[in-house]
Amino acid sequence: MTDFTYDVDAEGVATLTWDVPGRSMNVMSQAGFAELNGLIDRALADTSVKGVILTSGKKDFAGGMDLNAIAKMKEDGGDNPAQSVFDGVMAMHAILRKIERAGMDPKTLKGGKPIVAALPGTALGIGFELPLSCHRIIAADNPRAKIGLPEIMVGIFPGAGGTTRLVRKMGAMMAAPFLLEGKLSDPKGAKAAGLIDEVVVPENLLARAREWILAAKPADLVKPWDDKGYKMPGGTPYHPAGFMTFVGANAMILGKTMGVYPAAKALMAAVYEGAMVPFDTALKIEARHFTSVLMNPSSTAMIRSLFINKEALEKGANRPAVADQKVGRVGIIGAGMMGAGIAYVSANAGIDVVLIDASQEAADRGKSHSADLLDKGIQRKKVTAAQKDETLARITATTDYAALAGCDLIVEAVFEDMKVKADVTAKVDAATGPDTVFASNTSTLPISELAKASARPDRFIGIHFFSPVDKMMLVEIIRGEQTGDVAVAKALDFVRQLRKTPIVVNDARFFYANRCIIPYLNEGIRMVAEGVEPALIENAAKLVGMPLGPLQLVDETSIDLGVKIAKATRAAMGDAYPDGAVDTVLFAMADQGRLGKKSSAGFYTYDAAGKREGLWDGLAAAYPVSDTQPNLSDVQHRLLFAQVLEAVRALEDGVLTDIREGDVGAILGWGFAPWSGGPFSWLDILGVGRAVEICDALTETHGARFATPALLRDMAAKGETFYARFASQKAA
Ligand code: NAD
Repeated sequence: MTDFTYDVDAEGVATLTWDVPGRSMNVMSQAGFAELNGLIDRALADTSVKGVILTSGKKDFAGGMDLNAIAKMKEDGGDNPAQSVFDGVMAMHAILRKIERAGMDPKTLKGGKPIVAALPGTALGIGFELPLSCHRIIAADNPRAKIGLPEIMVGIFPGAGGTTRLVRKMGAMMAAPFLLEGKLSDPKGAKAAGLIDEVVVPENLLARAREWILAAKPADLVKPWDDKGYKMPGGTPYHPAGFMTFVGANAMILGKTMGVYPAAKALMAAVYEGAMVPFDTALKIEARHFTSVLMNPSSTAMIRSLFINKEALEKGANRPAVADQKVGRVGIIGAGMMGAGIAYVSANAGIDVVLIDASQEAADRGKSHSADLLDKGIQRKKVTAAQKDETLARITATTDYAALAGCDLIVEAVFEDMKVKADVTAKVDAATGPDTVFASNTSTLPISELAKASARPDRFIGIHFFSPVDKMMLVEIIRGEQTGDVAVAKALDFVRQLRKTPIVVNDARFFYANRCIIPYLNEGIRMVAEGVEPALIENAAKLVGMPLGPLQLVDETSIDLGVKIAKATRAAMGDAYPDGAVDTVLFAMADQGRLGKKSSAGFYTYDAAGKREGLWDGLAAAYPVSDTQPNLSDVQHRLLFAQVLEAVRALEDGVLTDIREGDVGAILGWGFAPWSGGPFSWLDILGVGRAVEICDALTETHGARFATPALLRDMAAKGETFYARFASQKAA
């Protein structure tokens, strides 16, 4: 079994077709690279070969490097993993550089063979770095194809020459969105941006590549950076224009990443330093920085959570072994903010939707949410008018429960009220067959309690979407006490159809995500009450990688929602309720009508257009700022441990059964410091022993909410990490 096939036609054009067996998408492995190397040698050595087309036997070109292989590269390094990673990366460079030079004399720049990348579809990561080393990149006009370098999204950066080549090709400023943000383009966009050379109708792809090869002149094969007198577009760092670019870019990166993402910094260093030296030295510099990123535990954790484990969960790692439960027709009860969003993502995934509300007007309003989102898609040229009509035609907005006949899944998203939900459950039971699965989108009510209203509790489950539904990728599936495997599989198959990421948790107050995020918000508010400078609270959170400070997040989710949750929690917990100090602040804000962003007044002030301005200075009047302020890391420890201790307790309580779900769910659900790979990965990076020391100190100063969980203490005593301790269970 080989990854590439090799054919030479009558005119002497060799076609190297990449077609990894048994996979729908090509990915590059060490073995694949070795094979490619051998075939390039063969083509260059064969005097009858005039040039080479590098293409794919699949509908796409390639999805990138096999990230499992990157993770393994380090492990295989024995005593000196950094050296082995560096050597591996340099070996990759050598192959791509061989393609780029294609046998030409380095002095005269003559005698090379043209090598063309012919891309039928998507070309990502190494799947685009490889074409970048070719002499021409021709792509089929396939609007669904994505071209680019998304490495930064999983905590690394393009390390197979992509960084150095793209910057030399288009200049640091123009390359920035592709390298620093992982921006992807369709073929026409890629051509317009200068990433690729040509877009042709798909049927002509190989013919056009052949034609270019046969007409290529020696000068066509010489990359600008290998030619005499090359000047980097936009200027190098010591050029006046280049200087401005680099100063601005550094500030922009720090502003966006708060310095917590090693890959962004390393990428910038590779670009800056590489710009000042010859091309081959720049590749070596890129390799050094790439190695340092691969050696950083953050990149390992990000790859593990955001790529390997996220994909495993999406593919059904925790799906019970029952028959396919694909949803054909879904009924959604409650066409408010959540129901309307769920209707949209379902219809978009090709599922027929019955959208029910108490009045026809409310149901229609829910459907119009889809029309609005589709119109936005049309404006952005992502959706056609025909697609809009097709999607809307899938949604039937009605008040009539009889329309639910034939629905295999019902998602209830009515008011957060036990009684209202129970009524709806009974009505749905009467209108649907025994096999229909009923899911509640509740965010706070126990699934096992809600299931009591159902005639079929084994078919009753929680499917908790996050707001806004069309943007948030996590879906929390909640198993009630009596929920059966078919219901779990149905929920997982539904989430898969929606192309979102599921976690499956057991039923307990606030399930998993809200359970962890509420203590974060509360800790921030508690600090305000203590007299901690609000700006310190907010910045401490952002400097440790949280996307929003706790006070901003409370404003976004609304202060009255916080009040509602606090009251319900206090009612449920009675004397054990620990958050009185938080409520004093929260309730006072609500009493003054400061409900957060939606009322243009909260912990922050907002301008007339609703744009956030700064922290509200009235806070200081009510809660005077103390003369002595805690140091930054104390505040950060409080904010992070408030979350991760809850995650550990969720694991101890059996709410979480798989730390992979805990990590992936934390990043996708509430943006937990993505650089860390999630709460469990963060504790592993910190070291469980150190975590116990910090918890003990926090408990002494701030109280029992930081009490060290027994699991952490046990792991610290044994010197364990989460990913080692739970690996044998099911975690990667
Ligand atoms: P919403 O108030 O926007 O919508 C509720 C809808 O249900 C309204 O359109 C209402 O007319 C309809 N409704 C009420 N009683 C009904 C009945 N008996 N029959 C038919 N329709 C009825 O609320 P929402 O924010 O969409 O929340 C809905 C559910 O989703 C709640 O359980 C909530 O806890 C949960 N949830 C909300 C969020 C969020 O961020 N808002 C996030 C996750 C889950």
